[in-house]
Amino acid sequence: METPGNLFVVAAPSGAGKSSLVKALLELDSHLGVSVSHTTRAPRGQEQDGREYHFVTPEVFQAMADRGEFFEWAEVHGRCYGTSRVGIEARLMAGEDVILEIDWQGALQIKQIFPHAVLIFILPPSWQELEQRLKRRGEDQPDVIALRMANARTEVAQARHFDFVIINSLFETALFDLKTVVHSQRLKYAAQRRAKSQVFAALDIS
Ligand code: 5GP
Repeated sequence: METPGNLFVVAAPSGAGKSSLVKALLELDSHLGVSVSHTTRAPRGQEQDGREYHFVTPEVFQAMADRGEFFEWAEVHGRCYGTSRVGIEARLMAGEDVILEIDWQGALQIKQIFPHAVLIFILPPSWQELEQRLKRRGEDQPDVIALRMANARTEVAQARHFDFVIINSLFETALFDLKTVVHSQRLKYAAQRRAKSQVFAALDIS
């Protein structure tokens, strides 16, 4: 599906800092909108329904999946997560840029539907640092942290399928890298042509 808006997909193992990076980017970039996913997991900490996620029951999620309401969905750490069509399709068609913060399985599904989607993988600098960050976050029980660490091994192996890799060692450096990727994508010929079709037409560039 070709759209005037750019689509960015950010994936990473839990604890790599993906959410903080995307949040900081959104504060800096008013042309970028985020998509709020649906999930069957329970809210954590201060999370609010409709803000971090739409929290739904497994039955509601399954019914949405059966009706084809998701662009992609996947099971992650034993729970279902999905990107609903509502919202992102219209925004991309209207020329807005959208960022999805999803797991690698969803990212690869999105690339099939939107070949121009830019896939960005965030890596932690080391396994030790990843585990420290998960513990410092203080949101998960030790068994959940162990599951996330085990899953992270499979997840990082998928980085090779992504267009860009950012190593989140220093937050500010990683944020700069993320901004650079987004900005460069917007300047690509095909992206400029999609986004600025009137300028191209006025200049008689096909
Ligand atoms: P968490 O439970 O820590 O918020 O998220 C667990 C994982 O699910 C993260 O890697 C997160 O990016 C991913 N995730 C969140 N929303 C979606 C979604 O809509 N689709 C897919 N495939 N993964 C998602």
